[in-house]
Amino acid sequence: MANVEFDNVTKVFDTGSNTIVAVEELDLEIKDGEFIVFVGPSGCGKSTTLRMAAGLESITDGELRIDGQRVNNVSPKDRDIAMVFQSYALYPHKTVRGNMGYGLGLSTDLTNEEINSRVEEAAEMMGIEDLLDKKPGSLSGGQQQRVATGRAIVREPEVFLFDEPLSNLDAKLRKHMRTELSRIHSELGITTIYVTHDQEEAMTMSDRIVILNGGALQQVGEPKEVYYQPTNLFVADFIGSPSMNFLDVELDGGNRLINDGSFDFQVSDEFVDTLKSVSDSTQFTFGVRPENIRIDENIADSKAVKTTVEVVEVIGSDNFIYLDLDGKEFRVRSPSYIEPEEGEVVTITFDEEAIHLFDANTREALVHGTVTHESDEMPTPAKGKHDRAVSD
Ligand code: ATP
Repeated sequence: MANVEFDNVTKVFDTGSNTIVAVEELDLEIKDGEFIVFVGPSGCGKSTTLRMAAGLESITDGELRIDGQRVNNVSPKDRDIAMVFQSYALYPHKTVRGNMGYGLGLSTDLTNEEINSRVEEAAEMMGIEDLLDKKPGSLSGGQQQRVATGRAIVREPEVFLFDEPLSNLDAKLRKHMRTELSRIHSELGITTIYVTHDQEEAMTMSDRIVILNGGALQQVGEPKEVYYQPTNLFVADFIGSPSMNFLDVELDGGNRLINDGSFDFQVSDEFVDTLKSVSDSTQFTFGVRPENIRIDENIADSKAVKTTVEVVEVIGSDNFIYLDLDGKEFRVRSPSYIEPEEGEVVTITFDEEAIHLFDANTREALVHGTVTHESDEMPTPAKGKHDRAVSD
């Protein structure tokens, strides 16, 4: 096992006609045994970062260390890492046993017997003992994924690298494999770097999530931390599905958040004090998550916001309700018994603990409820959709 340090690592691609900064000054220390997941939109630099860790991509600037050793110029085979790709990259003419043992045969002095015993152990761990004599072409996507992971396990590497390993599987199998990979990680405790598009995968599997945008690190934190205390508007928007709702607001002379339309919401003196302790501005971007909005006709005017129902999507246990608030779409996640009519005017409200305010210019987070962004304190989880009687 090993820790992995990106020390001011930059990757620039020069295509001749232009230069692309794929990763910019990345500083990140991944602890020994940690499960780290990189997420971010397409082209944000996730795969490039992983490929630099694997040694498949050169590093333009900065230093990469594995267990304290600079590895910038160490070839992939000498890095003691094992990588699992989205495409599984299995040899079609070899059996599962052959695929799993092949790398070991090349890179170690182990006897055939020792290789076989490692292969069988890994196959047992992945639940594929009965597939050992089959060829990849006769396996399902999920089985091939297990073989690819098993092949990485037999290497007993210092670091596992996964590049979107589950994206070719259907939703149900993906969920199942998530659990399997988490179990393997707890059993082996090997430092793991995992790249995915899927934020649900990131939230459920990781010890810490790394969010990238345009090659730049946005936030590193535990799943709850990035969800409840997003460092900026990008993270707030990216993490969570449906995503957070945003609105440009200002703080009036007192303690009301207003916009130039129908939004007018009174917050407490404590909230205003917290906000003023971190910002001199009166202009903010307001954010609230869909599950923290309640449709409630009995709410006091000072905390009521009138909206019009555009669409109601029934998804089973919950409804997603799309509202129009001064021409902006507001998404609400409600229990399924809240089913307003399309076109109906409804009153929404939320607790101030659920409010996020961002600087209107820098887009950096200022407060999460009554806690400043800099505070170590986690915001009190706001009352959710199921915590209160809701009238409709
Ligand atoms: P995706 O989720 O779509 O795979 P990603 O976050 O993994 O995206 P990267 O593949 O790391 O993103 O790409 C980061 C940036 O570097 C993109 O702008 C991409 O076009 C560029 N890039 C990646 N590889 C090369 C290359 N070999 N030559 C030129 N540009 C490249």
